[in-house]
Amino acid sequence: MTQKTAPKTAIVWFRRDIRLSDNPALHAACKDGYNIIPLYILDDENPPKDEKLGGAHRVWLHHSLKSLDNDLSNHLVLQKGDAKKIIPDLVKKTNADAVFWNRCYEPWRIDRDKEIKSNLKDNDIHVETFNGSLLWEPWHIKNQSGAFYKVFTPFYRKGCLQADPPREPLDKPTKISFGNTKDIGVSLDDFALLPDKEGEWHEHLISQWDTGESGAQKRLKDFLDDGLNGYKDGRNHPSWNNVSRLSPYLNFGEISPNQAWYAAQERGTAEGWEKDRDHFLSELGWREFSYNLLYHFPKLKWDNMQEKFNDFPWNDQDNDQLENWRRGRTGYPIVDAGMRQLYETGYMHNRVRMIVGSFLVKNMLTHWHKGEEWFWDTLVDGDPASNTASWQWIAGCGADAAPYFRIFNPILQSKKFDEKGEYIRRFVPELKEVPDEHIHAPWEAPQGILEMAGITLGDTYPQPMMDHSDARDKAMEAYQVIKKVA
Ligand code: FAD
Repeated sequence: MTQKTAPKTAIVWFRRDIRLSDNPALHAACKDGYNIIPLYILDDENPPKDEKLGGAHRVWLHHSLKSLDNDLSNHLVLQKGDAKKIIPDLVKKTNADAVFWNRCYEPWRIDRDKEIKSNLKDNDIHVETFNGSLLWEPWHIKNQSGAFYKVFTPFYRKGCLQADPPREPLDKPTKISFGNTKDIGVSLDDFALLPDKEGEWHEHLISQWDTGESGAQKRLKDFLDDGLNGYKDGRNHPSWNNVSRLSPYLNFGEISPNQAWYAAQERGTAEGWEKDRDHFLSELGWREFSYNLLYHFPKLKWDNMQEKFNDFPWNDQDNDQLENWRRGRTGYPIVDAGMRQLYETGYMHNRVRMIVGSFLVKNMLTHWHKGEEWFWDTLVDGDPASNTASWQWIAGCGADAAPYFRIFNPILQSKKFDEKGEYIRRFVPELKEVPDEHIHAPWEAPQGILEMAGITLGDTYPQPMMDHSDARDKAMEAYQVIKKVA
């Protein structure tokens, strides 16, 4: 008689992959017949201070974990603390034979995970790691001389598009057999992810999103039905419906880039929307490019990629101007609309991110770190690679950055991309009654028009923080300092 062996147990460690479908680690553990202990660790001990999760991240994470637990029939084990200690302890406690996870690419996580992996292996625990959040691994995309790409177009066209195509998405496991998950975790409330104060802020913010894997799939479907067609041009207009708003879902891994890539490819091809399809795919390529930069330049969050910018005379102190920028009180309506959209919804349209970013680093001559920090704290899609790489791009110091002297004119940008002021009126309601032709620069409107619109500059709406052309001249003067260094 053959003796039946008891099924083995595997911990599947969820990280930035909060989903069941197209989850390579979960898929492999189920396929290999393990009983699964699904685990999430809130590790605030290993990240450096300025890489701990921001406020908006925490709010989203709370809701995301709730829905993951629901999808896992309440088997999700939550632990809080140092993952380097928690994982081996849990392995012992559960008699686990294996640990599976999908890789992350932040430098601190790479260091931590390497250590965990090698300790587990030393103790004869089987460890498997997978790519669950990028289309191409950053170490696979190299130029002909074997170095990493520093410019987007060759990275994407020569590196990515000529490499093997991304992995096709995996289905949800048909069945998950769970190990004993009773009484080995803490409660979601113990994570204390929601702020005690400012209840209205986080409740209002999250009410505008449908978090979790099902919310992500619904967002993707809505975008494919009503957004992808016309994406190439429409994506520039902040009040239009052409962007996917998938970024927070990608950030938490509630959807994988592979799922978005193949769904857009299939739909765009079937409908004959090739231009829009290709443009959307190339934006996913920008996300890959950011990870490529972070992986090969791990100090991306702190150090200017172009060293000559180390001498740039940026202001790096907190002051009233900075606080007015954060709170959407600069007096430039498109900037204020963007900053208020950010605070109210945890998201900002890409075109407007570029405008407010340029305004901070060039009009206000404030260090890009200050913008990066505020975005990190308030964005629900705050991404360690894309946020930092984009701020370096805006500031002019990134690898493939916009030249420093490309200074966005917030009035012209507003007229061009929010022609009728619809976006401004949504987020700066006090300007609702200002006619279209004056809404982009209300200080230039005749007094009678402002009175009719109920606006008193300096009282009901701020005076502009500075004159744009003066600011431009000052920025160019400051640039001379490093031009001499170059
Ligand atoms: P879509 O236009 O629908 O694009 C689809 C996906 O492609 C996005 O979800 C995103 O994953 C990726 N993508 C699009 N544009 C970019 C880009 N320029 N760089 C990298 N990936 C891109 N994106 C983040 O995901 N997290 C951030 O923290 C972040 N910070 C930024 C800060 C600044 C100053 C700027 C200028 C841009 C930043 N971006 C960031 C990039 C971009 O603004 C957002 O990815 C985009 O607005 C997300 O909206 P969406 O999902 O509707 O985009």
